[in-house]
Amino acid sequence: MGYIKENIAEVEKKVAAACERSGRKREDVLLLAVSKTIDVDRIKEAVDCGLTSLGENKVQEIMDKYDAMGPDVKWHLIGHLQTNKVKYIIDKVDLIHSVESLKLAEEISKRAEAKGVTANILLEVNVADEESKFGIKVDECEEMVRKISVLPNIVIRGLMTVAPFVENPEENRGYFRQLKQLLVDINSKKIDNVNMEVLSMGMTGDYEVAIEEGATIVRVGTGIFGARVYPEKKQ
Ligand SMILES: *Cc1c(COP(=O)(O)O)cnc(C)c1O
Repeated sequence: MGYIKENIAEVEKKVAAACERSGRKREDVLLLAVSKTIDVDRIKEAVDCGLTSLGENKVQEIMDKYDAMGPDVKWHLIGHLQTNKVKYIIDKVDLIHSVESLKLAEEISKRAEAKGVTANILLEVNVADEESKFGIKVDECEEMVRKISVLPNIVIRGLMTVAPFVENPEENRGYFRQLKQLLVDINSKKIDNVNMEVLSMGMTGDYEVAIEEGATIVRVGTGIFGARVYPEKKQ
């Protein structure tokens, strides 16, 4: 016991140092605790340390943990979202990081309108253009922003990327810089209803570099909860 608290103290120290190095304020960066596969008791330890924003990559896991975690936490969906599951989480999540098609945005808009809520979303951009990854291409981004910006009950807050898995985080610096530049470029187009301020980038292996390059949300799982154990799939 206590290791989660120690891990968080360690991560916090590095986040603060990265903010300091890059002349940014600590409160301008959200440390999102990625709680996928982690049970409610352990998540509560993180919440007790002040990490009240939780990231999950599966709709089902948010549903399973939602009641037990109570109203004081904020859920972020960070993984691939299927259109037919939007209805389950539309009034449960604070931010959907992983929008990567117009079809999905349209469904989110429709469901948000029906519930009388405004959905906050990020566009997931596959900056490194990896075949295995979800996300739109850099050169498709502006057009997608324009199309989504006219839909009701949905607001594009910014951009997100899942950078390649690398040993040396410096290898991802260029991708983070590119995502920031893309956000600045699109904002400069002065599209109606579009003023993006969120950059969700950086995970356990590279969040310090991401902060130096302008991340406003870093998504940290392993660094907080330790290595994940994935349950065997039931047949
Ligand atoms: C699992 C996951 C993370 C956290 O990864 P760690 O390396 O454990 O910090 C961040 N973002 C997304 C989209 C994830 O699926």
